[in-house]
Amino acid sequence: MAGERRNLGLGVGAAIVAMGLGTAFGSVVLDRSDPATGPSEAALKKATSTKTPKNVIFLIGDGMGVQEITAARYYQGAKEPLTVDKLPFTGFDTTWSVKPGSGKLLPDYNPDSASTASMWATGRKTIDERISQGPSTAEDVPGKNLVTVLERYQERGQRVGNVTTAEVTDASPASLASHMSVRACQGPENMDNCPLETKQAGGLGSIAEQEADHELDVLLGGGQGRFEQTITGGPDVGKTVIESAQENGTRYVTDAASLDAVSGDEPVLGLFSTGTMALEWSGPAATTGKGNAPVACTEGQRPPEQPSLAAMTKKALELLKNRKGFFLQVEGASIDKQDHLANACGQIGETVAFNRAIRQALSFQRNNPRTLIVVSADHSMANQIVAEDSEGSTLPTGYSANLRTRDGQTLTLTYGTSGYGGPGSAPTASPPSQQHTGAVVPVWAKGPGAIKVLGTNDQTDLFKTLGG
Ligand SMILES: [Zn+2]
Repeated sequence: MAGERRNLGLGVGAAIVAMGLGTAFGSVVLDRSDPATGPSEAALKKATSTKTPKNVIFLIGDGMGVQEITAARYYQGAKEPLTVDKLPFTGFDTTWSVKPGSGKLLPDYNPDSASTASMWATGRKTIDERISQGPSTAEDVPGKNLVTVLERYQERGQRVGNVTTAEVTDASPASLASHMSVRACQGPENMDNCPLETKQAGGLGSIAEQEADHELDVLLGGGQGRFEQTITGGPDVGKTVIESAQENGTRYVTDAASLDAVSGDEPVLGLFSTGTMALEWSGPAATTGKGNAPVACTEGQRPPEQPSLAAMTKKALELLKNRKGFFLQVEGASIDKQDHLANACGQIGETVAFNRAIRQALSFQRNNPRTLIVVSADHSMANQIVAEDSEGSTLPTGYSANLRTRDGQTLTLTYGTSGYGGPGSAPTASPPSQQHTGAVVPVWAKGPGAIKVLGTNDQTDLFKTLGG
């Protein structure tokens, strides 16, 4: 890395000399780059293997479209590779969900994280707000429960894990081990929108209850608040969801040190915050017009008692490793959440932390080559990299933030669809916050079967790729 930095300095100098001499500026700059060499012969052979992978690790950057991954890349240094670049096979997935029309389903170009997660979890399209249930005529009419990729692994007697920086009951993790008509029905006391699905009504209960009942081998993230709620129906009535899980033999940990100490095969539930887990970085609030004077982000903001996404991933892999193979999903959830809030440093810090989790997966794969790694995003967002030197009438509309990158340059990010808080005010948080968009998302892969992600596919195709 240090060598790369030195090269960059020399390259800029060489480019300036080249300009003065009237030679090809572009070629001088490009000469100092290390062009992507493409997949090696060994990687190609492995990727085209028809053998079913023993282990599958799926890493999902929530809201991590091409612009978010590029913003993190440029912030770190334009020539600095991201860990995701080590995955040699890349394609695109369309992410459209469906909405009820008159007697038929119509495409919805701008999906939410519930319908998108349900796509890879079940291989089927559904309506927004829905968790691994088929579509119906309205949100308050439950759809048909659909078998999930995680349930398929459990049916085959294989181990399963689910790791996130969100509440474990949030849409992306929820889609693996629960079925719900409305994503907000996360705990026993949050069932107002799902009255037909409570345990007392004969349903499967809230998302937290269903996750506890699934006895996942590893379930790590935030969301203590949901699991501390009291169960109101069924055999465990009167107990909290945590107590219900513990009675089934699940171990419960709440800080990084306790997670570190866990070993053995019994299920582990780790909840490290009341709600969403703490952010890695902080920085300037987005403002209208030209935005703030460029500043670097403040790193190292996560309290040490909360494990990083990389630490949770490493531990999950250690606990899941077994003779019969496993499925693990890892979500970097707050890329999306901070993008909604037009928080550039928050968003980039979470993207960098997500890449550190990918590094853990690659490290595991090196010692366990029958492992397929797939990385993607659930949907794109309206964040964009725009010109840093705008003045007057060419100023970006809406909110923007200016960051000083490690190359010493200004990276200007706009949040063009953020809710307007009025002159001089921060963007409104919710709603209307910065929006999702309908653009395709990248999919990267490495390992047996990785070639399936090539080209442009649909997010529902991931279900089979992941072993569903
Ligand atoms: Zn979102």
